[in-house]
Amino acid sequence: MNPEIKSMTLAELRNALSMLGQPAFRARQVYHWLHRGVRSFEEMTDLSKLLRQTLAQNYLLTAPKVVRRQESALDGTVKYLWQLHDGNCVETILMRYHHGNTVCISSEVGCPMGCAFCASTIGGLVRKLSAGEMLDEVLFTELDSGQEISNIVLMGIGEPLDNYDNVCRFLELVNSEDGMNIGMRHISLSTCGIVPRILELAESRLQLTLSVSLHAPDDETRSTIMPVNRRWPVEELLAACRTYYEKTGRRISFEYAMIRGVNDSPETAALLLKKLRGLPAHVNLIPLNNVEESPLKPSERITVLKFQKLLEDQGVACTVRRTLGSDIDASCGQLRRKYTTRNA
Ligand code: SAH
Repeated sequence: MNPEIKSMTLAELRNALSMLGQPAFRARQVYHWLHRGVRSFEEMTDLSKLLRQTLAQNYLLTAPKVVRRQESALDGTVKYLWQLHDGNCVETILMRYHHGNTVCISSEVGCPMGCAFCASTIGGLVRKLSAGEMLDEVLFTELDSGQEISNIVLMGIGEPLDNYDNVCRFLELVNSEDGMNIGMRHISLSTCGIVPRILELAESRLQLTLSVSLHAPDDETRSTIMPVNRRWPVEELLAACRTYYEKTGRRISFEYAMIRGVNDSPETAALLLKKLRGLPAHVNLIPLNNVEESPLKPSERITVLKFQKLLEDQGVACTVRRTLGSDIDASCGQLRRKYTTRNA
């Protein structure tokens, strides 16, 4: 198959076009078209017909199709199910906050990590997304919705640090001045805790926000709900978070899904406080979203609020995530799951 042109950086495009005998300025012209979301080379109207044909013969230009578009009647959240060029599907969610529009994008088709409460991982990993395909999620959500995107969270289907190289390339593309120019401080990346990649990311000193899906402060509980913990246990993960903070100066955000009777007791809150001591952190409590296939249930609202208070009383910043789009299966992986099960 031809290489994907949208995954190329401007420098790579410059090289490729100079090999085709094109002048230097041509690369930027093509790059602009790509990052404006054209669906075919034909649309690049200021290039010669011949060059458009040559590009079409040598490169794949990706542009996903909308399979489903669900808008929440409650809060305006829009959930997209996209079909990729090979027929696979991924989800993107557009959320409207007062500080701007945020897209939650997928980084893989399916997920290999096996977390017990997550719908995305039920069928395992199908494949990783390319950098261009992740960019497409942002671009085409903006184009379809007519809403300018100012923030990106890598919290959809997949484990971004399992697709490290493509994710880094995506960050470079979406951050580029000749592209969407979205600042690193407007981007969050969520990981289940692949320690060597957290350390590698720390070395890059990018100013993005690292979110770590902690969900339990002790190895026994965490290993039961998150298999990744057997490979990199809590202490190693938190040590990597400390290094990340030291290298980047960025406070870590911890995600904590509240699961009834599993990780929501006051004793667990006390242990969490102990483990986070000295680490500038923000804890985001997420009321567990019900996943049909899972026996795990969300904590009672009052339990969540008590847990939050225990953390706050000890000076740890702690918020309870607003549930957006609960009427449209907005928890990641659920829509793709329904669609692929029905069409299997
Ligand atoms: N693989 C990455 C990012 C994808 S999931 C990660 O693990 O962080 C984004 C967040 O949603 C993670 O914190 C994940 O643990 C959480 N999540 C998954 N399923 C959930 C559910 N049913 N209810 C609440 N949170 C869930």
